[in-house]
Amino acid sequence: MTRIIAVANQKGGVGKTTTTVNIAAALALSGESVLVVDLDPQGNASTALGIEHSEGTLNVHDVLTGEQPFESIIQECSDISGLSGAPATIDLAGAEIELVAGDGREYRLRRAIDGYLATLGARGATCHYGLIDCPPSLGLLTLNGLVAAREVLLPIQCEYYALEGLSQLLRTVNMVSSHLNPDLLVSAIVLTMYDGRTRLASQVVHEVRTHFGERVLDTVVPRSVRVSEAPSYGQTVLTYDANSPGSLAYR
Ligand code: ADP
Ligand code: MG
Repeated sequence: MTRIIAVANQKGGVGKTTTTVNIAAALALSGESVLVVDLDPQGNASTALGIEHSEGTLNVHDVLTGEQPFESIIQECSDISGLSGAPATIDLAGAEIELVAGDGREYRLRRAIDGYLATLGARGATCHYGLIDCPPSLGLLTLNGLVAAREVLLPIQCEYYALEGLSQLLRTVNMVSSHLNPDLLVSAIVLTMYDGRTRLASQVVHEVRTHFGERVLDTVVPRSVRVSEAPSYGQTVLTYDANSPGSLAYR
């Protein structure tokens, strides 16, 4: 069975995309077959994976509007075998409005992904992990991500305000699990951009661990320049600098 994980937090800049692409790369490099679904109109995950997402590229928007089957938008990541991505283009920015009156609008992505996985299965192929990079909002796109997934991976930045807005996200996850997707749960929380030189960072780690207990992953992702440089080369940090601290953390 494919583990489908939505990486979500409605706050921007907390490390959703970075976590999505680097965990995906780490899994693929360890031999798993991994699909990244870019649900953010900014297309940052597509950039980091080095997959085409200029205007006019077949992308998640075409799937949500029913114009393309999921399979037709998938691109292989050239650097890492076993890793593929479903790109987002700026078209996706219109989806929130275009889908408002659509039939089964919350289930569009789920149906597309489930259908795709079923065809893979029929061919004897497998996809071990699907990672969905959600946009920084709790709108219809994120909702599609939460309905398509079975698990939520929640990145929290080790900064002041880290916990602000989290209760709203958790309420949304609960709403989705009671009405739209009973399988959904927050399976893991990952602390990102940890700067060991500041007392604030360790306070945030302490606070998050106290509040969420075992769901918080032991590994904390350090703040590291190599992590932020990698996307400008169309790479994940795992290929850009395999032995850097950020790369080791994501592995
Ligand atoms: P989100 O997807 O939640 O908006 P991003 O993953 O795009 O967040 O991260 C926001 C910014 O922080 C990006 O510029 C990214 O390169 C940078 N960043 C993320 N994680 C790290 C890290 N561990 N060290 C340094 N910079 C990071
Ligand atoms: Mg992002």
